[in-house]
Amino acid sequence: MTLEKYNNILDAIGNTPLVKLNNITKGLKANIFAKLEFLNPGGSIKDRIALYMIEKAEREKKIKPGDTIIENSSGNTAMGLAIVCRHKGYKLKIVIRDTTSKEKIKMLEVLGVDVIKVDASLPPEDPQSYNNYALNLVKENPDWYYIDQHNNLDNNEAHYFTTGQEIWEQTEGKIDYLIGAIGTGGTITGAGKFLKEKNPNIKVIGIDPVGSIFYNYFKEKKLVEPKRYLIEGMGDEFLIKTAQLEILDDMFQVDDKKAFGWTKKLAFEEGILVGGSSGANIWGAVKLAKEIDHEANIVTIFCDSGYKYFSTIYNDDWLQKNSLLK
Ligand code: PMP
Repeated sequence: MTLEKYNNILDAIGNTPLVKLNNITKGLKANIFAKLEFLNPGGSIKDRIALYMIEKAEREKKIKPGDTIIENSSGNTAMGLAIVCRHKGYKLKIVIRDTTSKEKIKMLEVLGVDVIKVDASLPPEDPQSYNNYALNLVKENPDWYYIDQHNNLDNNEAHYFTTGQEIWEQTEGKIDYLIGAIGTGGTITGAGKFLKEKNPNIKVIGIDPVGSIFYNYFKEKKLVEPKRYLIEGMGDEFLIKTAQLEILDDMFQVDDKKAFGWTKKLAFEEGILVGGSSGANIWGAVKLAKEIDHEANIVTIFCDSGYKYFSTIYNDDWLQKNSLLK
């Protein structure tokens, strides 16, 4: 019986629908399917890793209810962790960039998370910067458990066993391309690895924002100076363990304007209200379909909900202030 299947909110994580897009794809020979990850309880794909990483740490006896968990997050992993921690009885501290949308920060506060905001303009080498802050707090409080989604391969494993497997089953193995955003890289490389093991002909393509370092590293092994960009949840300033770029066959580079433009296009043309990384992903999937120009099945990911971005992507004043309004 369906009711028995969902014993609690955590059972509602994963098993998201895979839907065919019909309007934005007009005139393309390839089919594009999107995995609706914004339908997870925390509104993003990151619920999957939050649940998987906590339960794995529990199985390995690294944590027990009542303990304090800490993580740095662009907001979505934080939200997933907040739900899991509320449910299982952990205390949660989240280090977040002060540029993260107000909606995401508010959601965390509502769930009683200790939100520590850091100045997003600090250079990565600064001890107070986003990438160092949580690590330093862990050093000062060795009994706190650091999730470390950027270096913890359980992140990739979560997508290998869930997202990848679901896509394989939902497409009945008839998938030719997986394309999507690289944040930690957990999604695209974890799911990509699973799919390639099933069928080595499947091509896996990552998408990186202008300003992040992955694109130039992938294309020419060059580490460029990171620059500011506004798409949340994508790209990084460093190479990180979870971004297993060797699994990728290619990488596209997107900018804020394209990503946000396509995010709005998705809302208007498909009635799907999502965040900027999903806009980047559909831009990439359509670009790929045009380039290959033959019948194929392309799968991409709609990573998080548009409800998290009413103060940014869906706010013309904010777009204008950031010179992103046409
Ligand atoms: N989009 C959004 C909105 C995200 O929060 C994330 C996670 N950082 C991603 C895409 C990328 O996912 P991953 O970390 O698995 O690469």
